[in-house]
Amino acid sequence: MTATIIDGKQLAQKLRGDWKLRADRLNAAGIAPGLAVILVGEDPASKVYVRNKIKACREAGIRSEEHVLAADTKLEAVIALIERLNADARIHGILVQLPLPAHLPQAAVIERIAPDKDVDGLHVSNLGSLLAGHARFVPCTPAGIMAMLKTTGIDLRGKEAVVVGRSNIVGKPVALLLLQAGATVTLCHSQTRDLAHHTRRADILVCAVGKLHMIGGDMVKSGAVVIDVGMNRNAEGKLAGDVDYGAALQRAGWITPVPGGVGPMTVAMLLGNAVLSAERHAAEQGIKL
Ligand code: NDP
Repeated sequence: MTATIIDGKQLAQKLRGDWKLRADRLNAAGIAPGLAVILVGEDPASKVYVRNKIKACREAGIRSEEHVLAADTKLEAVIALIERLNADARIHGILVQLPLPAHLPQAAVIERIAPDKDVDGLHVSNLGSLLAGHARFVPCTPAGIMAMLKTTGIDLRGKEAVVVGRSNIVGKPVALLLLQAGATVTLCHSQTRDLAHHTRRADILVCAVGKLHMIGGDMVKSGAVVIDVGMNRNAEGKLAGDVDYGAALQRAGWITPVPGGVGPMTVAMLLGNAVLSAERHAAEQGIKL
């Protein structure tokens, strides 16, 4: 069996076209959707991610602001900037690029973003609303994963879903979303005994660890849907996932490539959340779109 490739780049492009239509309607109604991106420090990968997000905003008709702060910026200064952006009516979404430098506690920073502008969906209030089943903003990578699963046409009800990795950004929220879609979910992590035992019975396998090729082909159930979130560098310095793609391609029913899978979807879903936030703002003002 050779798996069908779930092309994240193509799906992201389609979704970005949809968001652009909605952003155009907002702009025509006098509401320019606005996203503020805060980058603290010089992490090269973070700089690339921020650049990509800003470019994607421009293409989708979303106004973006980039706030670059020095690596040694104090917590008080980061919070002051967030509070200024919280109060700015032209800003509908605020994103703090992670990871932050070690001296800045991530939770203390994220908790200062107004929940109705937290387009990454990482504020405890937004994670709580996700847990309760009425998410205000679904975190971008998990939202992208669910959109990719939808394209397979597979009914998730009753399926065995195994998520490897339990971060607040990917693993836990995607496990919740799969649960809400009716799957029976197993969440694995670094303390899990016999990981292969779990992955081999997964109809849906989501890997979000950050370890090159840790999921071998023999760990994949025949015909499974394999979603590879991991972003690693291989020996040639090229981007590669957590899954041994070549081997898994021969066993899975569907598979996402790295690059060109989950990554582009994450950016697309961020734009979607920014547009959604601006639409809510318009509705609050009684503006019809
Ligand atoms: P974290 O480092 O926050 O979490 C990694 C998770 O993997 C932890 O829960 C950890 O377990 C688990 N883990 C570590 N080793 C093992 C192991 N041997 N077996 C099973 N589980 C293990 O990472 P993130 O969730 O932030 O990111 C994961 C990967 O996804 C990274 O490569 C990251 O770059 C990528 N990523 C990609 C995105 C995209 O858009 N494509 C977006 C976000 C992330 P424990 O909790 O016990 O420590």
